[in-house]
Amino acid sequence: MLTVSEARARILAAVRPLGPERLDLLAARGRVLADDLRSGRDLPPWDNSAMDGFAVRAADCAAAGAALSVVAEIPAGRPTAVVLAAGQAARIFTGAPMPAGADAVVMQEDTDHGQPGARADRVVVRDRVAGGDHVRRRGEDLAENARALAAGTALGPGEIGLLAALGHARVTVHRAPRVAILSTGDELDDVDQAPGAGQIVSSNAFALAAQAEELGVGAVVLPIARDDRDEIAARMREALSFDAVLSSGGVSVGDHDHVKGAMGAVGLEVAFWKVAMKPGKPVAFGVLAGPEGPRPFFGLPGNSASSMVSFELFARPALRRMMGHRLADDRPRVSVRLGAAVAKAPGRASYLRARLERHGDALVATPNARQSSGALTSMVGADALLELPAERGDAAAGELVTAIVLRLP
Ligand code: AMP
Ligand code: MG
Repeated sequence: MLTVSEARARILAAVRPLGPERLDLLAARGRVLADDLRSGRDLPPWDNSAMDGFAVRAADCAAAGAALSVVAEIPAGRPTAVVLAAGQAARIFTGAPMPAGADAVVMQEDTDHGQPGARADRVVVRDRVAGGDHVRRRGEDLAENARALAAGTALGPGEIGLLAALGHARVTVHRAPRVAILSTGDELDDVDQAPGAGQIVSSNAFALAAQAEELGVGAVVLPIARDDRDEIAARMREALSFDAVLSSGGVSVGDHDHVKGAMGAVGLEVAFWKVAMKPGKPVAFGVLAGPEGPRPFFGLPGNSASSMVSFELFARPALRRMMGHRLADDRPRVSVRLGAAVAKAPGRASYLRARLERHGDALVATPNARQSSGALTSMVGADALLELPAERGDAAAGELVTAIVLRLP
């Protein structure tokens, strides 16, 4: 049997980032920059005031109590031609360009401004002023021609804000894979059908689509395929026009498990692995050469927890790599204290679905009551997968174990 990290390494070796596309800036949120991006302008574009107050010449205010004559008023958005001479100040507001001759700003709270008896054409500066005080220098945030963002940067709100300031209404990012989701099984019905005798809803299709969409990847759910090799192969051909395919069910060794056979029939080179993990174990993987690079096919197991955990450990890192993320496996691994004892036989690594709670600085993990691979409730409220290595046995309450954090409480 393969270990989880061996299986993941093989999968990651088989995929690569998708080509670029240009998107409107806000539509690129969550995407990954395809190229290094240099700044086409200085930020800020000119020296400007960081405060509401008075632009001054620091030399005039070398001692406390300097009295200056106010010769101009400069609001934001209105550059001025005024040149301050010795003994002069300009009323100035946050973001307004500094007038020539001035080299510092005094906050209005540090002057007699607004005090009884103060005059509009004069200001008294309480303390001494140093050159550069409260001035935001041209280019100090980012200089023209400096690297603004590196290729491989994921675009969050901060990056989007910077790109807007640099005037990029559109940006070039890696394409996000379009994922097809294929459920196989004679027992499966659609969610809006009342299940007939022996039927259940194909809930995996929804769970997997939600996992994909959480990544910022669009997912299309294909019609359910019956347990028939030719029908599955026909659906697979359709699915392989997408960038990646997630199927669930039909990958075990049962008489009605036809996914492997169908993969062969559509020309996928099949790697069929037994991975030493629980839930999970059987995973079929293959790639089809597409015009834009390899298209991975993930044959995930049918049991609900198995398919979701397999997505998390294998498909998610692969999809992230296709999106261009530098870090394919981005989930934090942290040490947490077990809130309850866990029974485990040595042999396969366990991925227990657990809730996390903060106890002071520590995280305590309580495994969900139901851990069977078919239990739909076992993934509900799961904040983490607790990874217990293959070779180990039972774990006692209070032991430190590794949690793969899906979300922090
Ligand atoms: P299989 O891997 O096809 O043997 O399926 C294993 C278990 O998972 C069976 O109990 C199936 O009914 C169940 N299963 C398979 N596909 C789905 C699905 N799309 N949604 C929910 N359960 C499924
Ligand atoms: Mg089946």
